[in-house]
Amino acid sequence: MTIRRSFGLALAACSATAAVAVAQAPSLSPATRAFVSMDAPKLALVHARVIDGTGAAPRENQVLLVERGLISAVGDSAQVAVPAGARVVDLAGRTVLPGFVMVHEHMFYPGALWDTGYLANEQGFSFPRLYLAGGATTVRTGGSLEPYTDLELRAAIDSGRIPGPKMDVTGPYLQGPGFPLFYQMHVLAGPDDAKRTVEYWAGLGATSFKAYTNITRDELGAAIRAAHAKGIKVTGHLCSVTFHEAGALGIDDLEHGLLVASDFVAGKKPDQCPDDDAVESSLMALDMAGAPLQGLIRDLVAHKVAVTSTLTVFETFGPHRPPLPDRVLDVMTADARVAYLRRRARIADRGDTTWTVLLRKEMAFERAFAAAGGLLLAGTDPTGYGGVVAGFSNQREVELLVEAGFSPLEAIRIATLNGAQYLGRDKKVGSLAPGKQADLIVVRGDPSHDVKDIENVETVFKDGVGYDPEKLIASARGMVGLN
Ligand SMILES: [Zn+2]
Repeated sequence: MTIRRSFGLALAACSATAAVAVAQAPSLSPATRAFVSMDAPKLALVHARVIDGTGAAPRENQVLLVERGLISAVGDSAQVAVPAGARVVDLAGRTVLPGFVMVHEHMFYPGALWDTGYLANEQGFSFPRLYLAGGATTVRTGGSLEPYTDLELRAAIDSGRIPGPKMDVTGPYLQGPGFPLFYQMHVLAGPDDAKRTVEYWAGLGATSFKAYTNITRDELGAAIRAAHAKGIKVTGHLCSVTFHEAGALGIDDLEHGLLVASDFVAGKKPDQCPDDDAVESSLMALDMAGAPLQGLIRDLVAHKVAVTSTLTVFETFGPHRPPLPDRVLDVMTADARVAYLRRRARIADRGDTTWTVLLRKEMAFERAFAAAGGLLLAGTDPTGYGGVVAGFSNQREVELLVEAGFSPLEAIRIATLNGAQYLGRDKKVGSLAPGKQADLIVVRGDPSHDVKDIENVETVFKDGVGYDPEKLIASARGMVGLN
């Protein structure tokens, strides 16, 4: 009852503020418009520090013009004239950066964890708005448990009915039998089934696919061929298939990086996922400078396989890591909060530092992969045991890339332009340049100086319309874990 009432109240609040909200962007529903803080046919952001997403140094005292949803100009105030009739917004002390383009996102969150298998709850209400609030203006769902729902959410967001990011929707997981068992996943019956599944969901509008831990090489090969025939990319969180094998089969991207590679397990059987302990101990023993890992990195770069960093979810598995801030705990249901805190306390008590070492190794791998010319992408993977929450996680991922040794400007590029390039959307999003869609994050401070400033989001623009992150977050309070 309480839940239904607060849901109703949130909607009522939306329509009440809608009347005084701005009149532009007629495609937005009143419920979406309630979160709009800035909207004008011509917008001039002045006195802004600009981080353009390419990795270039920040530029001070910039003017950024937005017209009809697009960036029409960006440059020094001496060069860019503010057009007559533009609404001028003074951004002194603020930094403008591109909206995040993150590629391991989900519209679900871990629900009941049973010994016999998993069920996750779709977060179709809270996650789209939290992603937008966190500055993620384009997300690829890194696997879908409710692909019909994700496709409908994309349509609802694109039509302006609900607030949320632009979505690259991944079809259902391409998975074989065995652990981890999710009741919401179809188990493939062979290569023909893999091909049929890809073609069916591509026909319904899925624009990416993801292979999972127990797929066979034949199934993965068939899925990749079917997807590539339609110009669609395939990624994988693999185990049964090694990274070497997947690269040779033509996979486009590998999720999570080194910490799920089964390449280094001695005596690994083809098409079978060794148990977690075997993978973990092979990685604990792995020499980061040794020939096997360096050879794998060269092989992935040569095959043009991207790697998606998901440090956010790995961070939660070991002790001695910062706790979730209150603002994140506040969006969870009471049950989700307790479940997360209980598990976190157990990890802290046990004090096992295996994951402390593994997290460091993953960070070193990501640096080495990028240094070797590999395309490193950023994602957040809101799974694990619930310590990764959409939107907040996108900011945290950038901070963790900096902890890994990237400069803040490099980390921002990984989180913006690299993702756009991978998705083939870099002519439209991912950096700040004339002609691109005005997907922008405005933060107080200078994240190139102190990356923590990436959390000080004041406004998130999508297609030139500014949204108020605090209002979006407030509307999701107490919802994460339920819907
Ligand atoms: Zn995932």
